[in-house]
Amino acid sequence: MKKEAEPPLPSRNLPSFTSFRDIRQLLQEKAISCQDVVQYYLANIREKQQLGAFLEVYEAEALAQAAEIDRKLALGTAGRLAGMVIGLKDVLCHQNHSLQGGSQILDSFKSQFTATAVQRLLGEDVIIIGRQNCDEFAMGSSTENSSFFTTRNAANPEHVPGGSSGGSAVAVQAHMCTASLGSDTGGSIRQPAAFCGLVGMKPTYSRISRYGLIAYASSFDVIGTLTHTVEDAALLTEIMAGPDEYDSTASQQPVPAYSTLLSAQSEPRKIAYLQNTLDHQGIHPDIKEKTEQALEQLRQQGHAVSPIDFPLLEYVLPTYYILTMAEASSNLSRFDGVRYGHRSAEGNTMEAMYKKTRTEAFGEEVQRRIMLGTFVLSASYYDAYYTKAQKVRRLLQNATCNLLEEYDFIVLPTTPTPAFKLGDKATPIEMYLADLFTVQASIAGVTAISVPVGDSYEGLPIGLQIIGGAFKESDLFNFAEHFLNRQATNQPK
Ligand code: GLN
Repeated sequence: MKKEAEPPLPSRNLPSFTSFRDIRQLLQEKAISCQDVVQYYLANIREKQQLGAFLEVYEAEALAQAAEIDRKLALGTAGRLAGMVIGLKDVLCHQNHSLQGGSQILDSFKSQFTATAVQRLLGEDVIIIGRQNCDEFAMGSSTENSSFFTTRNAANPEHVPGGSSGGSAVAVQAHMCTASLGSDTGGSIRQPAAFCGLVGMKPTYSRISRYGLIAYASSFDVIGTLTHTVEDAALLTEIMAGPDEYDSTASQQPVPAYSTLLSAQSEPRKIAYLQNTLDHQGIHPDIKEKTEQALEQLRQQGHAVSPIDFPLLEYVLPTYYILTMAEASSNLSRFDGVRYGHRSAEGNTMEAMYKKTRTEAFGEEVQRRIMLGTFVLSASYYDAYYTKAQKVRRLLQNATCNLLEEYDFIVLPTTPTPAFKLGDKATPIEMYLADLFTVQASIAGVTAISVPVGDSYEGLPIGLQIIGGAFKESDLFNFAEHFLNRQATNQPK
């Protein structure tokens, strides 16, 4: 793995830590307490406030939680995540805490319950340090669509952190928490993870309950993690995953203990890489170079690596955007000024009030998607767009799943370019192109991970995406862990 900038030392000269493994070790040695861990992250949050990662920081609450967990540690009754400090993307319900989906329309809204995924982590004594900035309703690839402020990439603050989970990525990148929970509909975890040099994990659709996640496109949305290590991702995923009586779409399949299977012997694997992603006209030369280097490393590690052509690549973006906009237009109809958040002071009739509220409080990109989504679902165009896109989705799903029957993994760059400059993408289409390589796994509903493979010549992180079969998270974590470990061992000092 690439050498990371040393995290700053905690205030009273405590040893530094990056992953939960480090923290657990120091807690065991009694070199630090959970309160020290929280203080360390709070100091970083204060120092790096200009990066705009957090919308809200729960300083007193996190410290109180830490004190309580320190007591449990002393008694030997603490959960498996004692000492882990996480942040939540502003789309995950956390009881009695504000939740806005990065939008003005949820102004002063507070969650009445906690998302199942979050609740399960709390059950293992995770500490929640705050709520993180994101694109409005998770629609975007740069976090510039947040209705609050823009988040900046810690590797170069003139550049975006990616999106939509940009705040969640920067918070981990700049050591403001151990891990973040994000959501990934078409790349919103993997793409910011790639831009910020992190591990970004999208589990299989339905692996983790969506209860308490603000819906963007319900047949794509998945909760996942942004972490420094594969091990942390595996542990969090294993705790969050599994059936849930509040989400009938959550899979009943048993959840393997991903984190304990990481060190299992990794066998030589059959890997396909998508040649046409590397030959794509939009690909940045540094991305191509790093991907080719990674493929070479995989070969050296004994895996069978074969190029394949994926001619359906040109259909992934139109299919993704038609279907997600259709689903979003329906999901976002609940924000009408009656039940939640902002309500316009103008409008004398019910309909006028709806219109004014939605016009005033939804941002431009969200309005665009609601209108386009409504259009593709309208009676006269339904078959031409929505039905057709559903059929193409099936083709793409079948093609991807067939490949994953023949090969263990599909490897491709996570993004066509490294993090771009703030304000660089002038049109929506340019922004949508940033998702070219991430939406395939979302359309197919399979699992995918982005892992860091070094930096561009400009010093911006680059990610490699590995796609695995549905419910093959265990294999994917194991493979990614071995790949990164071997890479780290072979790196010139
Ligand atoms: N950038 C993609 C979009 O705007 C993906 C977003 C996401 O995964 N939430 O739809």
